[in-house]
Amino acid sequence: MQVPDVIQLLSDHIANQIAAGEVIQRPASAVKELLENAIDAGATEVQLVVKDAGKELVQVIDNGSGMSPTDARMSFERHATSKIKNIEDLFKIRTMGFRGEALASIAAVAQVELKTKKESDDTGTKLVIEGTEVKLQEACATPTGTNIMVKNLFFNVPARRHFLKSNTTEFRHIVDEFTRVALAHPEVAFRLWHNGAEQFHLQSGNLKTRIVELLGKSYEKNLVPVAEETELLNINGFIGKPEAATRTRGMQFFFINNRFIRSAYLHHAVSNGYEGLIEKEAFPFYVLFLEIDPARVDVNVHPTKQEVKFEDDRLMYSYLNAAVKHALARYNIAPSLDFTLSPEIQSLPSVQLPMTERQREETERGYLSNTFSKGGQAHFAEKSDSLKHWKELYAIAASPSAEKVQPATEQAALHNENEISTSINKNTLLVQGAMLVTTVKSGLMLIHIRRAQERIWYERLLQEWNNGSTASQQLLFPMQCELAPQDAILLNEALPDLARIGFDIVPFGQNTYVVQGVPTDLPAGEERNVIDEVIDELKHESAEGTTKRSEKLLAQMARRLSRNKHAIQQPEGQQTLIDELFACSQPEYTPDGKKVFTMVRKEELEEMLG
Ligand code: ADP
Ligand code: MG
Repeated sequence: MQVPDVIQLLSDHIANQIAAGEVIQRPASAVKELLENAIDAGATEVQLVVKDAGKELVQVIDNGSGMSPTDARMSFERHATSKIKNIEDLFKIRTMGFRGEALASIAAVAQVELKTKKESDDTGTKLVIEGTEVKLQEACATPTGTNIMVKNLFFNVPARRHFLKSNTTEFRHIVDEFTRVALAHPEVAFRLWHNGAEQFHLQSGNLKTRIVELLGKSYEKNLVPVAEETELLNINGFIGKPEAATRTRGMQFFFINNRFIRSAYLHHAVSNGYEGLIEKEAFPFYVLFLEIDPARVDVNVHPTKQEVKFEDDRLMYSYLNAAVKHALARYNIAPSLDFTLSPEIQSLPSVQLPMTERQREETERGYLSNTFSKGGQAHFAEKSDSLKHWKELYAIAASPSAEKVQPATEQAALHNENEISTSINKNTLLVQGAMLVTTVKSGLMLIHIRRAQERIWYERLLQEWNNGSTASQQLLFPMQCELAPQDAILLNEALPDLARIGFDIVPFGQNTYVVQGVPTDLPAGEERNVIDEVIDELKHESAEGTTKRSEKLLAQMARRLSRNKHAIQQPEGQQTLIDELFACSQPEYTPDGKKVFTMVRKEELEEMLG
């Protein structure tokens, strides 16, 4: 019997409807697309009119460029865009996210009426489209610009329409989108009406006035400006003072090249900058604009383009984090901090490579690059002044007489208000087995023992890793472990890395492995834990790529190895810990960015005692 062929091409209409589901999920998605089109058309005044939370009507009226009759018709075709002409544009284009799909998608799932006119034309064009079908096209009288009405969204996709949430919820989504676009374009005047009532009337202004207009007067006194330039990105905008932090999220805005994005990663970089200033659960307010070479951003990760991937995400993290700390410090909200880059960041190619002349010129004025740069290297944190100072501090501690023979430059450094000028005394005090307190001339130094050990181990392992040799010790009783098949595949992949840090693990068939050797000093019984952790890391790796694997592995090993409490029971052990810590290139932070030690100044101590 002949089996009939089964493959059919989907009709344009069905294809558009499917695509529409991706781009247009709810009325707010249409709002976003239409507002952005108005902005892209160079409008200086934009009005948004919605009825029934956008279910009945989403209308955007702009005074932008308008369209010719042909363009008006073309604009509803899939992949019709005036914004990308060739493949290079894809990378160069600053206003990102054009796929020429929005209008086609909207027209597939709604009844659309468009009126548009170019400045140079006498008459405009009126177009009526219902579910991709052009019902009417005629000349009409209309002001320069575009007036587009999207009625009865999802009228032909009942399942979708049914899926929409309550009017309150849908309208909240609309206001969210409106807010984002309005924040990104303070120079444009916006108005928003809902069911005939005006909700927002935003004058053209600057970012500060826009924030206050949109979010409320209370923000006025709580805004701290951020403005940094580096060779990788520029950061501008405002962050809130710690007291403006809220218990719920919502007032956090990132814009990459002026388009709103979400990024848990970048959010972390900002909140981390508030460490110690706001509660752990609180969300700091921020409206931050990151400008970055579009070639370094991948915007097509998510169809609605709110999630992006960066080429140098860790470097961005550091810059953003430092920018926040700097802004807070400059406004005397936080004490001046050291802006040091972690070793992981230092090893990035973009950090290691010397800057080009152009980059140098561009960034020389910038605060961040001045902090991070030294001697022709892009921004080699190890050489940052404050860090050098910690090293001197360590050196002084090692030889008490050294204090008297400081060269003039160090003397100068010691006069700097922000530097902690002192030497480490040999007296240490163990607090609850977890912390070391040692007196220094200007006060007390508090050291988190486990974190210090973690840092020391990490740098030792990193060095060994780079040298390609790690001390390994053979187990007296090799340990056998059986894994789930999926886990075995993952472990197989990691075996070479594990071998490089001292694990001698051999496959034994049937998803079974035998651990014959482990890194020297790994506490007994930790073998299996390490393996489980490695597998767990690998499972979650995909999102970030494999480049960080070795560093993560090292950080993880450092964590395992640093659980040795006995080493610091004796004063000699304590002194060794301090010596080793300050021999590190980054004594201040653990590999994952936790603070290792802190200083309490004499004045602060006196203050505590009134
Ligand atoms: P994209 O914005 O990705 O190019 P759209 O489907 O949103 O795709 O729009 C298609 C095209 O229609 C745009 O490239 C632009 O040329 C034109 N267009 C859409 N909206 C407007 C508007 N408000 N004013 C002028 N031209 C517009
Ligand atoms: Mg568009």
